[in-house]
Amino acid sequence: MPRPIHATIHTAALHHNLGRVRQSVPDAKVWAVVKANAYGHGIERVFEGLRGADGFALLDLAEAERIRHLGWRGPILLLEGVFEARDLELCSRLGLWHAVHCDEQIDMLAAHKTQVPHRVFLKMNSGMNRLGFTPRSYRAAWARLDALTQVDEISVMTHFSDADGPLGIDHQIDAFNATTQDLPGERSVANSAAALRHHGDARLRSDWVRAGIVLYGSAPDFPESDAQHWALEPTMTLSTRLLGVQHLQAGDTVGYGSRFTADGPLTIGIAACGYADGYPRHCDTGTPVLVNGVRTRLVGRVSMDMITVDLTPLIASGMAVGTHLGFGSEVTLWGRASNGTVLPVDEVARAAGTVGYELMCALAQRVPVAQGV
Ligand SMILES: *Cc1c(COP(=O)(O)O)cnc(C)c1O
Repeated sequence: MPRPIHATIHTAALHHNLGRVRQSVPDAKVWAVVKANAYGHGIERVFEGLRGADGFALLDLAEAERIRHLGWRGPILLLEGVFEARDLELCSRLGLWHAVHCDEQIDMLAAHKTQVPHRVFLKMNSGMNRLGFTPRSYRAAWARLDALTQVDEISVMTHFSDADGPLGIDHQIDAFNATTQDLPGERSVANSAAALRHHGDARLRSDWVRAGIVLYGSAPDFPESDAQHWALEPTMTLSTRLLGVQHLQAGDTVGYGSRFTADGPLTIGIAACGYADGYPRHCDTGTPVLVNGVRTRLVGRVSMDMITVDLTPLIASGMAVGTHLGFGSEVTLWGRASNGTVLPVDEVARAAGTVGYELMCALAQRVPVAQGV
């Protein structure tokens, strides 16, 4: 019998969240961003839920191959483009579209021998200062690409640093539009946060939105808004079971470093989940957790293989009546409990000082993952 921890990927929720993106930007085509193994969910496990997207966007050529292997014949975009010249051969063979963000990538294209000209997305660094040509150097790069027989259509793209926050998109979109407005080709500017928060902004007109985190049911702008506000459903549930129960008296401490001290009689449950499963060690007393679908809190430090949870709300509430509480009881770390109660991954992430993205991506190898409804 393996340890009881396991993750479930919810196909219907992926489908639902994709529908929410379409509602928000009805005129745009949607890239389902599936980099980082579909934000930790597994490309093969999200494919069914996301196959209604117009294309898949990712970083790794191996992941692109996996999507082709699943039978996807539509567009696939490499968001960082190629890393070395021979990657272009795979692009030709698999029909991959790729971002072009630097002169080295144009040099490689110019030297590439191909029967099929490539579709490329020329990336502008409009202020985030990660990848892309600055507005000043952008038009020259566009002209260089346009002159290559290896290049078919050129689309234009940029990426926002603050679509989820108060700074917003103003400082970037105006520079982008000023430089690209008379260029032909499709445009791709919005990520999840821009698609949800700035879709009414006419300057953001986009042929392709690049939707990542929203598909996975996490609010890009948590805690200002949450998944419920955006009507998103959790796509990953991490759950386990209780392995033990301890009855504490005032003054008793819990776990490594004795970080938690009971101030009176307290019953705690020991759950089979620790930081080696990808549950963040930075979570401390107070982090929300569900036991039998009832919300309670972590107490004490997260160990490698175990966490300790306060069972008081279950004992106090009538909900515990008729439900077995003890060895084997269901514990939900994030996602949806059997009784339907949801614990958003964003709340757990916040308790650890991080974002839902990181928790889902960091799900450990040792946790078995299954596709579910
Ligand atoms: C990851 C990524 C996205 C998706 O971002 P979300 O915040 O998850 O929607 C969009 N565009 C680019 C270039 C990316 O790298």
